[in-house]
Amino acid sequence: MSFKFMEQNISLPQVTFNDWNNSMASTWCESCGNRPLLMAIKQAFVALQMEPHNTLIVYGVGCAGNTCSWVNTYGVHGLHGRTLPVATGAKLVNPKLTVIAEGGDGDAYGIGLAHFIHSARRNIDITYIVHNNQIYGLTTGQASPTTEKGVSSKSTPCGVIERPINPLALALSSDATYIARGYAGDVAHLKDLILGGISHRGFALIDVFQPCITFNKRNTYDWFKERMYKLDLTDTSSPNYHNVSDKQGAFQKALLWGSKIPIGLFFKEDRLTYHDELDQLGGYNDAVVDHIIADIGINKTLQKFR
Ligand code: SF4
Repeated sequence: MSFKFMEQNISLPQVTFNDWNNSMASTWCESCGNRPLLMAIKQAFVALQMEPHNTLIVYGVGCAGNTCSWVNTYGVHGLHGRTLPVATGAKLVNPKLTVIAEGGDGDAYGIGLAHFIHSARRNIDITYIVHNNQIYGLTTGQASPTTEKGVSSKSTPCGVIERPINPLALALSSDATYIARGYAGDVAHLKDLILGGISHRGFALIDVFQPCITFNKRNTYDWFKERMYKLDLTDTSSPNYHNVSDKQGAFQKALLWGSKIPIGLFFKEDRLTYHDELDQLGGYNDAVVDHIIADIGINKTLQKFR
């Protein structure tokens, strides 16, 4: 596990794109979907005027996790699949931080799947951005939990036998309160989805189609462009109209796959967060890390149980 600290720690009068950049050069493959995805994330940060020194991003392992090196803020590049427990802990002890978790589809929906479900049902107030390229890229092309049935890969030369995980349907059934799907090839649209997720109070999933141009030769930019359409949240006469508070409708849209694949905001709900319901934490403005504990005794607490 490694910890990264900002190159500078200053209060910024006006946050710009450069405040989120550092001096490190990206090692991602040219045209990798991670590049525009990171651009969308930084654009959302700037649009929200988020301050780097008040932000924490927790990363999983994989090509997505390597993002840690190219964002100028506090970062934890932790264990495979364990972004959400770390992000949860950080948010609970310091609710004043904006906490984001990032990982790939293997990290999120494979080894970290249980954390995903439990974070969603707890409605932890963090944003989870999943770089979903439907393959294990960093380990050079093995099938992941979102690889489509029948696709051959290094680990499945005769084709994947299982059906893929459906991240949106899973998030809906786990009671996440902000559920969206974006596409790395449309930065402006993706930026808005990320911005909405960070602004949302509660657990936000943004699953992002992120083409891996090196190891996934099926789900390419062109493949997505031929199939994707945007959910229309405003025009009720549009065939693509979708009501984001309609959970049943969101399920139906989440199950669509094949010649037509929707992207956009599928579901949004206002619900008390885990933090709201845990009185002992003292609310969002009372960070546990700020408490003075030198003169705290446990006698008062013990008396409650006598
Ligand atoms: Fe991107 Fe795939 Fe290259 Fe990883 S292996 S950097 S996901 S193109």
